[in-house]
Amino acid sequence: MIVGVKQIGLLIFIIFISIGGWRTKNLSLSGSLMALLVGCMIGYSYGMEGLLILGVFFLSSSIWSHLFKQGKIGMEERLAKSSVRDWQQVLANGGPAALFAFLYSVTGNDIWTFSFVTSIAAANSDTWASEIGPLSKGDPLSIRTFKRVPKGTSGAISFIGTVGALLGSAIISFVFFFILYPFDSKLFLLISCVGFLGNVIDTLLGAYWQLENQCCVCHQRTERKEHCHQQTARIKGYSWLNNEWVNASSCLVAGVIIFFILI
Ligand SMILES: [Zn+2]
Repeated sequence: MIVGVKQIGLLIFIIFISIGGWRTKNLSLSGSLMALLVGCMIGYSYGMEGLLILGVFFLSSSIWSHLFKQGKIGMEERLAKSSVRDWQQVLANGGPAALFAFLYSVTGNDIWTFSFVTSIAAANSDTWASEIGPLSKGDPLSIRTFKRVPKGTSGAISFIGTVGALLGSAIISFVFFFILYPFDSKLFLLISCVGFLGNVIDTLLGAYWQLENQCCVCHQRTERKEHCHQQTARIKGYSWLNNEWVNASSCLVAGVIIFFILI
């Protein structure tokens, strides 16, 4: 591979964005290094256009998590991690897209491009749902029991969260057809729907099999291993199936589904 001015320009851009994410506390240091890796893979395969699609996901999730913080007070207690994304979170959301981008660069087959964009659509759909959903006035419903559960519970659904999920998927699909691929209304709808389906898979995995712990002191349900300086006890799910694995598998599955639809 001949390294030209364009490649160097892209690399500088990726480094700039990764450092920016870290400096603005959207990414931890490890998260920004992983973003650099994911960015390089996608930039290598799709150039600036691919990075812009990733950028829409990255920027919109950061904006949503900073906006309306008031509505989400108390939610971080339930989650294992804060809104500063570490390498595992970046890999879970961007890893499948980087993998599909790599497969495209090796094979030159456009089908991997559809898997690439659909996996980002799924990641964006999930992020928008979990950032916008908590703004709902009432508590959400559990998709498993259809009973009200506190905000931030995995496997919980709400009306505006679902609208957010649809929009989150559609916007990635739209940007893709705007900058990387000639517009095709059927494909636009298909990618939007499969991206949304990725979010549905995420919700189902979250409701049935994702790890949930409970604090032995204050009985708070959480994904954290420790609460109130005590070890928490597992009350639901597989101990290894944390939020990152759920995210990664739903993005991966969305990309694989579109592959089998379009092949
Ligand atoms: Zn506690």
